[in-house]
Amino acid sequence: MNLEAFCQSLPKLELHAHLNGSMSTNTLEKLYKMQNPNLEEDKNVVMNIDNFSSLSECFKVFDIAHSLTVTPKAVFCSTYETIKEFKEENVIYLELRSTPRAINGQMTKREYVESIIEAFRKCEVDFPSILVKLLISVNRKQGYEIAKENVELAIEYFKKYPRYIVGLDLSGDPMTGDPFLELLEKARTAGLKVSAHCAEISNETETVDILEFKPDRLGHCTCIHPDLQGSVRLFDMLLNSKIPVELCLTSNVQCKTVPSYAFHQFKYLYEAGHPVCLCTDDKGVFRTSLSREYEIAGTTFALSRKDLVNLCMSSVQYAFATSEEKNILSSKIEIFDRNVRDVIN
Ligand SMILES: [Zn+2]
Repeated sequence: MNLEAFCQSLPKLELHAHLNGSMSTNTLEKLYKMQNPNLEEDKNVVMNIDNFSSLSECFKVFDIAHSLTVTPKAVFCSTYETIKEFKEENVIYLELRSTPRAINGQMTKREYVESIIEAFRKCEVDFPSILVKLLISVNRKQGYEIAKENVELAIEYFKKYPRYIVGLDLSGDPMTGDPFLELLEKARTAGLKVSAHCAEISNETETVDILEFKPDRLGHCTCIHPDLQGSVRLFDMLLNSKIPVELCLTSNVQCKTVPSYAFHQFKYLYEAGHPVCLCTDDKGVFRTSLSREYEIAGTTFALSRKDLVNLCMSSVQYAFATSEEKNILSSKIEIFDRNVRDVIN
């Protein structure tokens, strides 16, 4: 089995995937047709996003995704299709994250969240091999009032659907706004797990604040190592915290926050034995898949197949799942590992 096929068949866990950025061209096309049932074979924007010439072109996908998910039906469809695609590449556990959206006259934030839950329920029946959870996102760019509203909504829905809604995600443009740590604390007190995007840009004060807050997981942690615009102090703080870091290789390379795959923070954290997991961030926008990210990590950092299996296995411990669910996930990876070794021997 070549590395590509191996990574494809590996039972993987995706812990950092934004719903809107994860939609594939196929899904966007489906949504477009749903929104414009009378337009036949129109050569529309969706069909033209295949050739990116720059990163700003990439981000047009976000705008397209937003414009196509303005009704509960479209949110249901986008969630369903995205889960199906992750399942097709042998993802056995998926945490999606999304900021609740209201569209005047068409959808309330509650309907947005309910549509995602409804898709989760349908997928449980249609795709029993993948377990799916939701993190409600707080977009720092939207300001305090909206962040507060989303945290309250997350707490309300966590009480209503504890099986599906497991955490809160702090995300959004790191150049603007605030990490709203007091709001994250409120969510944590209510029992939600917290994952925070951290150090996507160099900002020592904020990075220290986030690390001292001790979220359950951190996203990216790019500008922490001294070689990547961080500092010895920050890197030591992160290592001492032992907080698992969600790493998204292609996303960071394409956004140019790291110079290349070889100099991605994966290298420093993995070598230091820090807990990390491989994730996609926005597989639709960055034209990647979780299997592809494993393959890239394997090739770039000369990881053995056993190392890749171990990465999946350790991701189980960082998942916002129950211990019963973690046992099931671990055993799926163990069975895969055993079967692969039987083939080799
Ligand atoms: Zn992200």
